[in-house]
Amino acid sequence: MKGIAILGATGSIGLNTIDVVLRHPERFQIVALAAHRNVESMAELCRHVRPRYAVMAAPDAAQALRAALADLRPAPEILAGAAALETIAALPEVDYLMAAIVGAAGLMSTLTAARAGKRVLLANKEALVVAGALLMRTVAEHGAELLPIDSEHNAIFQCLPPTHRAGLERVGVARILLTASGGPFRAAAPETLAQVTPAQACAHPNWRMGRKISVDSATMMNKGLELIEACWLFDTRPEHIQVVVHPQSVIHSLVQYIDGSVLAQLGNPDMRTPIAHALAWPERIAAGVAPLDLFAIGRLDFEPPAFDRFPCLRLAYEAATAGGTAPAILNATNEVAVAAFLEEKIGFADIPRVVGTALDRLPVAPVTDLAQVLEVDGRARALAQDLIANLV
Ligand code: NAD
Ligand code: MG
Repeated sequence: MKGIAILGATGSIGLNTIDVVLRHPERFQIVALAAHRNVESMAELCRHVRPRYAVMAAPDAAQALRAALADLRPAPEILAGAAALETIAALPEVDYLMAAIVGAAGLMSTLTAARAGKRVLLANKEALVVAGALLMRTVAEHGAELLPIDSEHNAIFQCLPPTHRAGLERVGVARILLTASGGPFRAAAPETLAQVTPAQACAHPNWRMGRKISVDSATMMNKGLELIEACWLFDTRPEHIQVVVHPQSVIHSLVQYIDGSVLAQLGNPDMRTPIAHALAWPERIAAGVAPLDLFAIGRLDFEPPAFDRFPCLRLAYEAATAGGTAPAILNATNEVAVAAFLEEKIGFADIPRVVGTALDRLPVAPVTDLAQVLEVDGRARALAQDLIANLV
């Protein structure tokens, strides 16, 4: 029996994880749930799942959760604040941690779980973008396992041999083909993008996801973050990764080998597949996902990415190539810009403007330690706020 903690439980990945885990009560027990401030949703989940611990990262929300669950017996232990996320991540009864908080807010708990030697199911790609060097080192030093939940990276992991940690070249990999749906504006004329609304940007053609990653998919920053994520997970460089736009989202990524073979992982676009894969690995368990019907799909299309339409993708390539603290600057300024776009304070085309200006202005240094990364993250957020204030 494996004890599971789900951080970001009320989100899209969190709910999909609960769905898969509850299908296998003989294998898994949910020990802890954590979320930010959505008390209603958390209270409902606690009644359904009956975790031993429930965390609300926003302290006032924990108080409200206590009130909402006053009649529940046995009552979960309710913890409050960001530090409680780390408490949960290190609990001895937690074997697997689902890192599904959105944004750099998930970094500390992910690092803590790695330091505690847990199996970390990593949906929170921002943690790797911000502090990939530190997270990968922590995983190695503490014998933790890092299994990718992002569908593309989970697909790549499935297409690699178990010996891939020896180095992609040693196992005959020529390059990674990272697929992208292209999002809702794949075919839109660049001049129409300035007028896009948050609702339009969040209407992804193939996936139902949280609002931040939905906007990232629409700008294709998501693919840029995933490029950086793939470099860390598979110890490779941006020039060995080709982004392939594949509008149907049926192939979740591919690995090309030196003998001409190309291995792909296919499936319906349903995050329960990578979640189930990482939960059971190296075994397989049912995920509740409908079997793939190739006859119904009929055809699969591919095209190169349009860098002119998606400046965020170009900025991410540049940050990935620059390395050091550049990806942390990219991520922090993108988080601030996306939040401002969702609050309708700035336009869609302002997102790459804010990120690009910040990358031009802030110095990039090699990553030394966590304190430095957090300082860079804070400084980049402050600059992004300034830039936004001057835009409006
Ligand atoms: P979401 O917005 O639906 O959910 C986010 C969760 O994080 C919520 O439970 C929220 O309460 C919690 N959270 C937010 N801020 C927090 C904070 N400061 N402290 C603690 N908890 C906080 O997002 P999502 O779509 O589930 O995405 C979660 C992560 O998974 C992101 O990093 C995203 O890039 C990644 N991801 C998601 C998908 C998907 O299909 N949704 C696919 C691949 C990767
Ligand atoms: Mg993805």
